[in-house]
Amino acid sequence: MEKPHAICMPFPAQGHINAMLKVAKLLHFRGFHVTFVHTEYNSARIGSSNEMSPLLAADGFRFESIPDSLLPSINPTTKQDLPSLVLAVCNEFLSPFRDLMKRLNDPSGVPPVTCVSDCITGFTLEIAKEFGIPDLFLSSFSASGFMALFHLKELMEKGLVPIKSEDDLTNGYLDTPIDWMPGMKNMRIKDLPSFVRSTDPNDIFFNFSKDEIQSAFRADAIIINTFDDLEEPILDAMSSSLLPPIYCLGPLTQAMLAVDDNQLESINGNMWEEHTNCLAWLDQKSPGSVIYVNFGSITVMTSQHLVEFAWGLVKSGYEFLWIIRPDVVIGESSVLPKELLDETMKRGLVTSWCPQVDVLEHASIGGFLTHCGWNSTMEALSAGVPMICWPFFADQQTNCRYVCANWGVGTEIDVRVKREEVGERIREMMGGGKKGEEMRKMASKWKESASRTISPGGKSLENFEKVVKLLMKEKD
Ligand code: UDP
Repeated sequence: MEKPHAICMPFPAQGHINAMLKVAKLLHFRGFHVTFVHTEYNSARIGSSNEMSPLLAADGFRFESIPDSLLPSINPTTKQDLPSLVLAVCNEFLSPFRDLMKRLNDPSGVPPVTCVSDCITGFTLEIAKEFGIPDLFLSSFSASGFMALFHLKELMEKGLVPIKSEDDLTNGYLDTPIDWMPGMKNMRIKDLPSFVRSTDPNDIFFNFSKDEIQSAFRADAIIINTFDDLEEPILDAMSSSLLPPIYCLGPLTQAMLAVDDNQLESINGNMWEEHTNCLAWLDQKSPGSVIYVNFGSITVMTSQHLVEFAWGLVKSGYEFLWIIRPDVVIGESSVLPKELLDETMKRGLVTSWCPQVDVLEHASIGGFLTHCGWNSTMEALSAGVPMICWPFFADQQTNCRYVCANWGVGTEIDVRVKREEVGERIREMMGGGKKGEEMRKMASKWKESASRTISPGGKSLENFEKVVKLLMKEKD
């Protein structure tokens, strides 16, 4: 029998690429031929960030790229402008993606495409319908993040968002409780995706998220990087809505299938060069003694924020591993003033991109100062690491609320970052006080739960096998 062929098209940003790569590898392990699609721009970046080209095809696992219609950037090591990318995904990707599908379906030595695996890229659904093949909708958001985005439309219809004036940011309006979203609890307007804070009804991110997420209705099934125990009430609410069948496959990890495949192992989607020296540094530290700081691939901050974080870390009394992306400071280079850098180096190791999953799973890590991107949050929950949250953008506000108020594994830092608060939160999380102890206890509980769900008999593993069967059946 000819192999089923999955074409995986993530939204072209780091977090989405990482989640999709994990799904792609799992499908490959279950016998699928995989074509993973990057934009030409990202493909070039990923190629140049990795010594051993991760774009080298493994047996039955190939990369293709499509143009994104954006002007080439002057500096190929920096990210593309996100609003432009969003507009390009909406308006420019359909046609090159269709051409790619046609090409792959011509006798080209690869099996004809049998399913599309997709993220917030509604154009793939359109193409899947044209070619008469099923489309899986990969939500790289949590179920709560998905639900919050899904209700942007209703929030707007109720006149609650976007906010009416800048005053609403400070007059207590953002504390308004939102208690009517199915399955969601302890929510306020400020815990909804960041775009609701815009006063502009034409805000690109707001409208993109509001509209694109509705395409989930047209997918054949939705897969989510979460697990049932973690988000049961929301998942139940989603299942009793008109959405297609939902399968939780999280935490997405190769460990789920217990297969060793070195060839696939070396494939990654890093857009920054990864530095692994931090692992040897962590080897020398005591268990649970180091705080890990990383704000992901999109967060940007002012140089004042960077300085406040640095002083907070230095004065916390704990050692730290801090990942400072070269483009993390808005419009400036991400370099600390000399005196502060010297202080930082006495207690910490600073680097620009690391193997995050390995870092979080390292015994020396005792806590994670994070922006609450969903991949990072899920990686921390799986590793049993408590979090200090400084959400920046999109669904991160919702993730932060769940981490702190519903899952009991974190605390939040005020958006205005003050060094005293950074130090205090770190001592609270890492120290022997009641709050730190409780967070560590809950973190261990979620780690166990995450591990159970991907072990034999576990729900996520079972769900994965169901998804494979569903796609195989569609193929027959
Ligand atoms: N990541 C990494 N090394 C780093 C920083 C991030 O490997 O130094 C990975 C991280 O493990 C996660 C992804 O990049 O899988 C970031 O995704 P997330 O959803 O957490 O945040 P985003 O970058 O989308 O804001």
